[in-house]
Amino acid sequence: MSEPSAGTDATVPGAFQPAEAALAADPGREVIVRAVALAKRYQLGKSNFVDALRGATLDIARGEMAAIMGPSGSGKSTFMHIAGCLDVADGGEVWLNGRRVDGMPARTLVDIRRREIGFIFQGFNLIPTLSAEENVALAGEYAGMSRRDALARSRELLELVGLGDRMRHAPSELSGGQQQRVAIARALVNDPDIVMGDEPTGDLDTATSAEIVSMMRAVNVERGTTFLIVTHNPEVAESCDRIVRMRDGVVVDDGDGTPQGTDAQGRPQ
Ligand code: ADP
Repeated sequence: MSEPSAGTDATVPGAFQPAEAALAADPGREVIVRAVALAKRYQLGKSNFVDALRGATLDIARGEMAAIMGPSGSGKSTFMHIAGCLDVADGGEVWLNGRRVDGMPARTLVDIRRREIGFIFQGFNLIPTLSAEENVALAGEYAGMSRRDALARSRELLELVGLGDRMRHAPSELSGGQQQRVAIARALVNDPDIVMGDEPTGDLDTATSAEIVSMMRAVNVERGTTFLIVTHNPEVAESCDRIVRMRDGVVVDDGDGTPQGTDAQGRPQ
């Protein structure tokens, strides 16, 4: 095996993708997330490691709803966590809302997450002892709101996701779909520019998954919120504006008609 991968290594498959190519095709669109040649290695002991990302490059346009698909272990979650400032890459660049964020101090990344990004996870991750209303409000307080404002915002968002009559219920008193709606409301509490979902419908049946995706689409249309959703569910992916495909730590198809991969010399195709 080679030395730890640097994202800027031209021999890394998928490195040096021209992020500008997608923009050239549609000069009117604004990029909200730009990941360039991301590399991430997990060290598993002294000589054992996994290259989770090997030069993944992708642009996400503001206001779009994009799905990321790919086999298990292809780097989807790692990519999303780095794009969402939950984790840092070993190489490459991450741009968010027009400025480069990789290399920023951890505290700054926390602030960026609080202000600009919302997350939805597969397991809902609600606090079992708090009501729906309190779960969402707590996230609001974490984002810097007063308790009073956070509660008001929580109620507004729970209405938005159709849970106006369930606000005082604890997570255990709600169905899986309802719990995920609470999680969506929580993700929206800071009025994020982008919501990132890691298998947000992974624990839900087909009908409920479809319901959750329409809810996200409604938010996307009404508020212009960008959605980036990692999913194994083809129906969820088909409901998005485009499907990005990853394999072996690279984006092999950005779903945007932009050629991915490299030629024999390692140059972009
Ligand atoms: P996906 O989301 O496509 O299933 P992941 O991004 O979760 O892929 O993982 C990519 C690769 O990195 C996998 O081989 C996985 O086992 C490995 N990996 C992910 N997270 C860690 C970690 N914290 N420590 C070690 N290896 C990890």
